[in-house]
Amino acid sequence: MNHKIRDVKVHLVSMPVQGGFSDATRKVETIGYTIVRVITEDGLEGFGVTYHEVGGEATKLLIEKNIAPRIIGRYPFETEVIWADMFQYLRGVGRKGLMFCALSAVDIALWDLKGKITNLPLYRLFGGNKKEVPVYGSGGWTSYSDEELVEEMKELVSRGYQMIKFKVGFNGGNSPSRDVERVRKVREAVGPGIGIMLDANNCWDAAAGARFANRVKDYDIMFLEEPVFADDIPGLKKFKMSTDLPLATGEHEYTKYGVRDLVINQAADIVQLDGTRAGGFTEMLKVAAVTQAWNLKFAPHAMENIHIHLVSACTNALFLERLLLFEEITRNIYVDAPEPVSGMMTIPDKPGLGLELNMNFINEYDEKL
Ligand SMILES: [Mg+2]
Repeated sequence: MNHKIRDVKVHLVSMPVQGGFSDATRKVETIGYTIVRVITEDGLEGFGVTYHEVGGEATKLLIEKNIAPRIIGRYPFETEVIWADMFQYLRGVGRKGLMFCALSAVDIALWDLKGKITNLPLYRLFGGNKKEVPVYGSGGWTSYSDEELVEEMKELVSRGYQMIKFKVGFNGGNSPSRDVERVRKVREAVGPGIGIMLDANNCWDAAAGARFANRVKDYDIMFLEEPVFADDIPGLKKFKMSTDLPLATGEHEYTKYGVRDLVINQAADIVQLDGTRAGGFTEMLKVAAVTQAWNLKFAPHAMENIHIHLVSACTNALFLERLLLFEEITRNIYVDAPEPVSGMMTIPDKPGLGLELNMNFINEYDEKL
């Protein structure tokens, strides 16, 4: 078989978000996927994805113009050296952000190909054996009324989720007493057996975040996520020293270097890097190893269908996050994507990612640039 890479195709599919959803610090207007298909000389195809609220066009062009020409003619098993080559080639224009979204999607596509060539699901290539992984339902915008918030959280529980997450930072983070009240209402509505996580989306400083955390910890909260600006690593540490409510952060961090800075500064209990942005599977395996070395927990952000293989294999990984916001577009992008059942997701018994792209939908909505 000739597994040399022959072609790379990139598709961009976006969806306007109706309803004006806001968290504490921003309004969501668009969501979308950038999809990378890597095809070998023998016609075998692997794919990877990254996603965006803004900037998908730039990511697509970066892959087409800069990365694709440098991987055509190479072999999918070269993930380690291809990653390193791309890092050096592109480092001057980005060591975080869109550059890494682009590289992540390409790296995931190469890993999908490695699974297809070896006829193994990725969780097995990563060394895992669990086929079922816990998943939590994630939504609860701060733009919701209290009634809408409680209703959505009850709905998640009725769909079988044992763990739920919602957003705090009502009114841009300026009404923490209202947030405490909303936490109380949700806890009373879902009962004591359901795991509750909170996400403040960067809205506070360390003192305000810690004060809030200490006011809600009696509601049996699993963690508070991003209580301060993601780059305020001293603030994250100060928060952590000021409360015993566990601190989750990392969805805005990139690469092993980003997670290194979080751990050496004692700025996280639960590390949430996102493999579809932070460097793909090649980098996420290293990120997981760093968290293991510091005895921290690993809980990748969003993109549950991609991260399920990592969470299966990494012994300190807790669970997957399923964003309600992405459910519709995800159902359209894949053919028969796995859905959670009783708060668990099952890895498809297929090679690679175990997912099939819905090319009818993707071709119909592909944004040609
Ligand atoms: Mg978050």
